Amino acid sequence: MNRRTFIEKSAKASSLSLISLSELQQSVNHKINDQNLKKNKFDVIVLGVGSMGSSTCYQLAKRGYKVLGLEQFNLPHDKGSHSGQSRIIRKAYFEHPNYVPLLEKAYKNWDILQNESGHKIYHKTGLLYFGKSSSDLLNSVQSSSELYGIPLKKVKNTEISSKYKQFNIPDNFKSLFEPDAGFLTPERAILTHVELALKKGASIHLNEKVIDWSQKDGIIEVKTEKEKYFSKKIIITTGAWSKEIVPNLKPRIVTTQQLISWVIPKKWDDFTLGKFPCWTIEDEESKGLFYGFPILESGQFGAPIGLKIAHHYPGKEVNPNKAERDIDKNDEEILTTFLKKFIPNGYSKNHVMKTCLYSNSPDSDFIIDFLDVNKNIIVGSGFSGHGFKFSSVIGEILSDLAINGNTLLPIDFLRLDRFES
Ligand SMILES: Cc1cc2nc3c(=O)[nH]c(=O)nc-3n(C[C@H](O)[C@H](O)[C@H](O)COP(=O)(O)OP(=O)(O)OC[C@H]3O[C@@H](n4cnc5c(N)ncnc54)[C@H](O)[C@@H]3O)c2cc1C
Repeated sequence: MNRRTFIEKSAKASSLSLISLSELQQSVNHKINDQNLKKNKFDVIVLGVGSMGSSTCYQLAKRGYKVLGLEQFNLPHDKGSHSGQSRIIRKAYFEHPNYVPLLEKAYKNWDILQNESGHKIYHKTGLLYFGKSSSDLLNSVQSSSELYGIPLKKVKNTEISSKYKQFNIPDNFKSLFEPDAGFLTPERAILTHVELALKKGASIHLNEKVIDWSQKDGIIEVKTEKEKYFSKKIIITTGAWSKEIVPNLKPRIVTTQQLISWVIPKKWDDFTLGKFPCWTIEDEESKGLFYGFPILESGQFGAPIGLKIAHHYPGKEVNPNKAERDIDKNDEEILTTFLKKFIPNGYSKNHVMKTCLYSNSPDSDFIIDFLDVNKNIIVGSGFSGHGFKFSSVIGEILSDLAINGNTLLPIDFLRLDRFES
């Protein structure tokens, strides 16, 4: 990189702000309260303004469409799938290389969102992957990286003891580092999408639950607890509640409750942002995958302060309206035992435990498709615990489907008819 480009990049990076999450929330709420609530006819209505819905409202408003976003709770909230300060973003996708082109576009869209809003949402910390040499997961990370030329570095054991000394990794483990990976801040991202959508003319109604919708003669009626609205198209992004709004999805989606834990480490300073990367560890002795983040300031990022660790595997099945939000002592024990084994100075005591919901599809791949032959009803669901990083591009895709009836982005592998054979 030449000197001029470097200076321009640094200036751009430093011009992004990290105003406190509560300030951003207040400013967005003011704009929401200033809206004219009398309109009831729209080009597109988006049901559910969470991760995917907020991005969709922004994309549609940006393209000049009259869009209404309906959200049952305040924003952001901790009853769905997007709460908890941080979400990992990575590109050498082990789930399937088909996702990589979508991720390339997602990264670009996050960058555009940051530049348009001035808010910092993506933090490049790099991501360490650890697992046995035979680990399918690590091998899949490598194949995606080779297939698409994604930067990925093998990390030597000597480097772990010098550069990443927080980790206690067995000698028979392989270690990889993806430098462009990092984390996104979900609450800030959703508020930012909503802030810009409002600025571009979208209507966003909070605390207004959709109870029904129906289609007649090419017009769709959406009924909420308060009102009726009409549009030519609807986009359903109701996350863990998708089965309620789209009964056909009932057999396809399993909602599970997942645990996130913030602990107090023995050596706080070794784990703060800038000193500690994001990480994932696959250990054959425990099912699923463990992952974590550096310690983040609570004012800027919201939610609790501490070292965050989570476990990616399908948890206990729950009804989103009755999700227990209690902490299973066994799950808590699994997390802390894991942490003590692989990141010994990362644990001195538990701090805060929270739950969050996954909407799992049968194959853990997303569901993005039309629900009717007229292509008026579109659904984005089944994000199976790995969707947030894509939300910036999912909004674009769902908007393409509503406006053009198709998208140039490669989503055939996410169509609903894959479950029919
Ligand atoms: C613990 C945990 C960790 C995760 N970690 C990662 C990660 O590191 N990286 C990553 O990429 N992804 C991660 N994910 C997954 C990611 O957060 C989800 O895939 C994503 O948030 C799903 O977005 P969504 O829009 O479908 O759901 P949500 O963001 O929950 O949005 C759905 C919205 O619809 C609203 N709604 C529902 N029904 C109605 C109704 N009837 N009327 C009006 N509004 C309604 C809800 O209130 C909600 O706001 C994680 C998820 C969890 C739970």
